[in-house]
Amino acid sequence: MQEQQFGNLTLQLVRGDITRQDDLDAVVNAANAQLAIGGGVAGAIHRAAGPDLDAACRPLAPIRPGEAVITEAFKLPNAHVIHCLGPVYGVDEPADELLVRCYEAAMDRAEEAGLGSVGFPAISTGAFGYPIREAAGIALQTVVRRASSLTSLRLVRFVLFSELDLQVHQEILAGMA
Ligand code: ADP
Repeated sequence: MQEQQFGNLTLQLVRGDITRQDDLDAVVNAANAQLAIGGGVAGAIHRAAGPDLDAACRPLAPIRPGEAVITEAFKLPNAHVIHCLGPVYGVDEPADELLVRCYEAAMDRAEEAGLGSVGFPAISTGAFGYPIREAAGIALQTVVRRASSLTSLRLVRFVLFSELDLQVHQEILAGMA
């Protein structure tokens, strides 16, 4: 685990499963436009949360790239899930701007709900094909840039599924110190 302080915000990098972050107020879903069950992070989150999550999502769909909505988390160990739609790389343009908006929108939903801690997966880097190094740079910069204007949010944890994804994030964060 790597941890760095930016003002009042603690930023953590861990290798792990987004559905097993018991100590966080919310986890972020790398959702699809329909907020449907799907594969990857969305599949894992819906499986762990149970069918009530699908029912809670349905009236909120569809969402557009760069948008985020918040629901309860049902059987997940967190209070909330924040569902973000990242850009499909090479399709939704400008991809970098849409990915920034995704992280911003997720932090907006967390702040509006007065949450103290949120966990992010590497949005858009799975089925949506965003190169991990570029996506990691955007994700980390977007969170760090926001650190000084946050009110409730005190902890942002990046939960990376593979050792390689963790290493890439560690390298980029080390370069930002
Ligand atoms: P997207 O459609 O936004 O690309 P994916 O769910 O396909 O989203 O993948 C996003 C990232 O999340 C990928 O790097 C993938 O390896 C990772 N991932 C998949 N399952 C999990 C999980 N349970 N916890 C954390 N990260 C995960």
